[in-house]
Amino acid sequence: MKIKISDNVLLIVGKDRGKSGKVIRVDQKRKKIAVEKLNLITKHIKKTKTSKGDKVRYETFFDVSNAMILCPHCSKPARVEYKTEGKTKSRICKLCKESVDQKFDSSAIKSKKTKKQS
Ligand SMILES: [Zn+2]
Repeated sequence: MKIKISDNVLLIVGKDRGKSGKVIRVDQKRKKIAVEKLNLITKHIKKTKTSKGDKVRYETFFDVSNAMILCPHCSKPARVEYKTEGKTKSRICKLCKESVDQKFDSSAIKSKKTKKQS
């Protein structure tokens, strides 16, 4: 699956077609993604003795094939291919040949690649 958390994607099918947003959840096994503020459903929480009941809106998963990565360089929905350079595997936009990986993420989310202060 080529889409990762915090990618910007464009929806190409469904009621939110044409809209774009940031990927907030990824289900690798089922090949599904959830995008911020898209494909929202409202869930009603029943009134109980302890809570007064509420409505929550949250993003539901949809099939990854319904979305395309928006390339941060050419701002177009792009097909991506993998490029391996040494030990790093990066995703490349087929249109502009630039990496679609957002560099600030790898350091923020995964702390394995920490900057060496020399
Ligand atoms: Zn591009």
